[in-house]
Amino acid sequence: MSNGPIERSAAQIARDVNTRTLSATDVTEAMLMHVGAVDGAIGAYLTVLGDAARDAAARVDARIAAGERLPLAGVPLAVKDNMCLTATRTTAGSKILEHWVAPYTATAVARLLEAGCVPIGKTNLDEFAMGSSCENSALGVTRNPYDPARVPGGSSGGSAAAVAAYEAALGIGSDTGGSIREPAAFCNLVGFKPTYGRISRYGLIAFASSLDQIGPFSRTVEDAALAYDAMGGHDSMDSTSIERPLETTATHLRTDLSGLRIGIVKEFATAGLGAEIDAIYAQAYRDLQALGATLVEVELPTAEYGLATYYLIAPAECSSNLARFDGVRYGLRVDGADVNEMYERTRAAGFGPEVKRRILIGTYALSSGYYDAYYVRAQKARTLIAQDFERAFASCDLIACPAASSPAFEFNAKSDPYSMYLMDYYTIPMSLAGLPALSVPCGWVTPPGGERPMPMGLQLCGPLFAERPVLAAAHAYEQKTKHATKHQPSLENIAAPSGSL
Ligand code: GLN
Repeated sequence: MSNGPIERSAAQIARDVNTRTLSATDVTEAMLMHVGAVDGAIGAYLTVLGDAARDAAARVDARIAAGERLPLAGVPLAVKDNMCLTATRTTAGSKILEHWVAPYTATAVARLLEAGCVPIGKTNLDEFAMGSSCENSALGVTRNPYDPARVPGGSSGGSAAAVAAYEAALGIGSDTGGSIREPAAFCNLVGFKPTYGRISRYGLIAFASSLDQIGPFSRTVEDAALAYDAMGGHDSMDSTSIERPLETTATHLRTDLSGLRIGIVKEFATAGLGAEIDAIYAQAYRDLQALGATLVEVELPTAEYGLATYYLIAPAECSSNLARFDGVRYGLRVDGADVNEMYERTRAAGFGPEVKRRILIGTYALSSGYYDAYYVRAQKARTLIAQDFERAFASCDLIACPAASSPAFEFNAKSDPYSMYLMDYYTIPMSLAGLPALSVPCGWVTPPGGERPMPMGLQLCGPLFAERPVLAAAHAYEQKTKHATKHQPSLENIAAPSGSL
């Protein structure tokens, strides 16, 4: 592949735009041309922002010309379509918001734009971020750039596919139970979910408020760190945003792991995932050791209850959050004889089957008589899971484990909801505990029946506020192993990546 601007990392683009060897406008034009050539086949974007992107690029160029230095100058950004951007359609992948235009910009997006990013478009997702493959989107199909017969993961699959297919240098997604880490693993990317409350959710359409977090997708750990540094920190517009100085990360990346104790979770043994996948993780742990880390075995005995706990808490919160979509305040309205019929018809027509399933489960779990048996019990289990992590972190600094149990699967392979829910087995416990966790490429496997090698992700997780060590360790691992660069996305049947200047 040539090293035209669209293939460069966010850090490289920012360096070039800051030194005026490249203009944000040129990067943006090259990117929009590439998106025009490939996105018909990939389907990463629900909305491409031609003129808005050009205007943003022109503003960046003007700021650079005026002497400013911007950490993400000219970096093409893909934004998951559950985050608001003023005057653009923001759909949450749902028919109920298909034509809704956001009246303001989410804080995380605004901070990235302030840091110099150029918004290329809004990306596909599972409806209201509920899913693990993007197949629950009501508005489009997104394909995995490494094998178009396979899903990109989800729910933030559009942002992941966009970055993997060079349709953006940086993406942002939201992670409630794994929706950044799993698609990152499926698309050969770094995907980072910070500590709960670290990045403002103001302007993120809520799914499960006690779990939702925004975070970056990138092709390098350095880019994820730059994005985190730009987005993180307190925001008075989000009452769950943490008031504590931000520990920036990009200038603290490491190239070795000496002195670090990395916990390997006894309950997350990979032997059951098949010999090839087992070998990938065994090698990954050996590589961490070769970098100087000491491996220690840790136990998370309650982690196996993560899925059951999550699938009470997340639907309960979603049933409450989604009550606002009633045909009155936002988006779709289907008229009826009276107001109740209007509500019913609007919600029946506007929500897809997975969203309805969750509203039903959540409403049931919260109803009087069942609240104590389900919701309160789930909250207690959640506390036990968080305490397990606390105990584990007494004997290690970080935890390493798989990000997902398999590589990207084919469309319609997980048609029963439970098999889809299982995709988040390794990511949900960290979400319940609010911990920072990331997926970094760790190897390739050709799935049975598949023709192409597909990427796998190593998950690294730290205690609350351990963003710096998590990203530092991931960088050391990435620099040593360089798994991400071993295969390129299969875009050749679509169009040659263009964009050389
Ligand atoms: N796959 C999980 C779910 O469907 C997680 C989704 C997410 O993290 N947004 O709830």
